[in-house]
Amino acid sequence: MLPRVIIIGRPNVGKSTLFNRLVGKKLALVDDQPGVTRDRRFGDVELAGMKFTIVDTAGWEDEDPSTLPGRMRAQTEVSISDADAVLFVIDARAGLTPLDNEIGNWLRTADVPVIVVANKAEGRSGDSGILEAFSLGLGEPLGISAEHGEGTADLFEALWPIIGEKSEAAEALVALDEDEEDENGVPTGPLKLAIVGRPNAGKSTLINRLLGEDRLLTGPEAGITRDSIAIDWQWPDPQSGETREIRLIDTAGMRKKRNVVEKLEKLSVADARRAVDFAEVVVLLLDATKGLEHQDLKIASLAIEEGRALMIAINKWDVAAEPSKLFNGIKFALDEGLAQVRGLPVIAVSAKTGKGLDQMIAAAFELRETWSKRVSTSALNRWFDDALEANPPPAPGGKRIKLRYITQAGTRPPRFVVFGSRLDMLPTSYERYLVNGIRRELGFGAVPVRVVLKASK
Ligand code: GDP
Ligand code: GDP
Repeated sequence: MLPRVIIIGRPNVGKSTLFNRLVGKKLALVDDQPGVTRDRRFGDVELAGMKFTIVDTAGWEDEDPSTLPGRMRAQTEVSISDADAVLFVIDARAGLTPLDNEIGNWLRTADVPVIVVANKAEGRSGDSGILEAFSLGLGEPLGISAEHGEGTADLFEALWPIIGEKSEAAEALVALDEDEEDENGVPTGPLKLAIVGRPNAGKSTLINRLLGEDRLLTGPEAGITRDSIAIDWQWPDPQSGETREIRLIDTAGMRKKRNVVEKLEKLSVADARRAVDFAEVVVLLLDATKGLEHQDLKIASLAIEEGRALMIAINKWDVAAEPSKLFNGIKFALDEGLAQVRGLPVIAVSAKTGKGLDQMIAAAFELRETWSKRVSTSALNRWFDDALEANPPPAPGGKRIKLRYITQAGTRPPRFVVFGSRLDMLPTSYERYLVNGIRRELGFGAVPVRVVLKASK
């Protein structure tokens, strides 16, 4: 069960607008005219990765003003009995009204955390209303503008200490419920794998080898799109003895089928693009007799930009001259050419002899796990605090850039949101410091990691 957050406030302060803003859809009717009735509505919210259910208590517009407070109170009491937090909305432009004070009095005696939200505070027009709201005695009011979408980061910050833990626990349960993911959030369906590379790198040979006599071929399945081929097969994992399912996106087959006249160079990038779209893990196949070329980096960048887990296999290892020099040279060139994902897994293979192929597939499964990994917000913030302490953000013009919180907003690829202020002044070198730290210290390895900065006051 997700944590439940209730919106409470007198008519016309912007409860509906806030509800819609958080839920992200125009579910509710918003109207200037009093008299627009609504029911109590529920919506699921994902705020910077934190999930909760929001409830809009509404429907007082028709009420006779003399009986309104009593009726509101009765319904509010029912609503907050199962709430984890209350957002008490006031109108920062209008300031406090007697009804606001009355609601504030009830809430002070209620056994639930309350956040005072001073809405309509865009620009400076709400400043005095925000100050006034301190007098409710319910803590520091948050100035927001539901209509303009301002202040949601502050709302996250205020809610996180109250419902963050419950939100994470609920999410872990949901992940268990879905049969497509295991308890670590790793997909349990077939590994969607694409093998891409320049013409003649050995893709067809490799795929034929993989699907050879000792493999059980369960496909070939009809195409994912008009001109692509997915092959379902089962790989006997020599380590665990288990059989694991793989869905292979066959770009080599695609090309041969289409009988093309286009320039091969252009084509292999187009093939790669299509394959990358469907894949979780992309194996870029290099030719040991050719080394790493510009077009390989182009294909690699494509996979990284799409947020896919990328690894490198150097094929034709059986005919490689000076293997160790070649291997190190390619690793070095990859780190130079793809600075955003240093330390990509590199495996030497031979499609001809079969060398390294089981390691390659095992590495691909491992990579998908890393790519799907979720770090708890508490562990994340522990790391974050240490990282900021070890290397505090700069203070351009004598004013320090404040970084407050970090949260993982998603997986596949891992995505993070950092909240703070004066973020436009944050040097990209510092962003890189954070990204590299996440990768190295939180175990994301060479998977593409995304960090978004969000302003909070
Ligand atoms: P509710 O009765 O509390 O649910 O209030 P509504 O969401 O229906 O909003 C009442 C009025 O306030 C509508 O005209 C909204 O457009 C307006 N409103 C809501 N949020 C804001 C805001 O952030 N700034 C301003 N200026 N107006 C807002
Ligand atoms: P594709 O264009 O990437 O599909 O490449 P192919 O699979 O058609 O292979 C191109 C050429 O490389 C063929 O002549 C293959 O026999 C050869 N080849 C593929 N893999 C290996 C390998 O591991 N070792 C050696 N020596 N040759 C290979």
